[in-house]
Amino acid sequence: KLKKEQINILVVGLNNSGKSTIVNHFKNPEERNNTIVPTVGFTVERFQNQGVFFTAFDMSGAGRYRSLWEHHFKSCHGIVFVIDSSDRMRLVVVKDELEILLQHPDIAFRKIPILFFANKMDCEDALSCVKIAAALGLEKIDEKPWHISSSNALTGQGLEDGVQWLIEQVR
Ligand code: GDP
Repeated sequence: KLKKEQINILVVGLNNSGKSTIVNHFKNPEERNNTIVPTVGFTVERFQNQGVFFTAFDMSGAGRYRSLWEHHFKSCHGIVFVIDSSDRMRLVVVKDELEILLQHPDIAFRKIPILFFANKMDCEDALSCVKIAAALGLEKIDEKPWHISSSNALTGQGLEDGVQWLIEQVR
């Protein structure tokens, strides 16, 4: 397989799951904290690090903004799906959003690898990877390589290994 010269990674998840913190970790220091906010209720960040282009957006409350970011699906090679492991209340919302994502015509029929970050593993009430995988029904994803790892975006724990896995799947 030829090496891809540009890899597009989508970073998705509900608000407050830790996307910005994760994305910041992979930015060069001079790029940190310059989030672009094109319109109310819809935040997108785009930057590259060593040929890997990261595009991040918020899924929550994005119903009517959906079409604004869905066009990124076609060109994406891998997905980082960020979950707040301590936010048990919204796990059902996460499940819904995941299903909508997986059923999208630009995602459904492609073998795009998906990395799930069970983020905020440092929180006392954080659910384990295994419990989150079960709650989201990840075992039913059969057409795509997927992987779930715990992360602490504040310290960076788990981030590099996770994204490394994703990039290896893409290359
Ligand atoms: P986003 O809305 O998905 O972009 O989430 P943010 O990156 O803005 O993070 C939301 C809040 O959670 C912020 O206050 C972060 O500092 C905090 N946060 C992010 N990751 C972690 C983590 O791994 N552990 C803890 N304890 N807090 C985190």
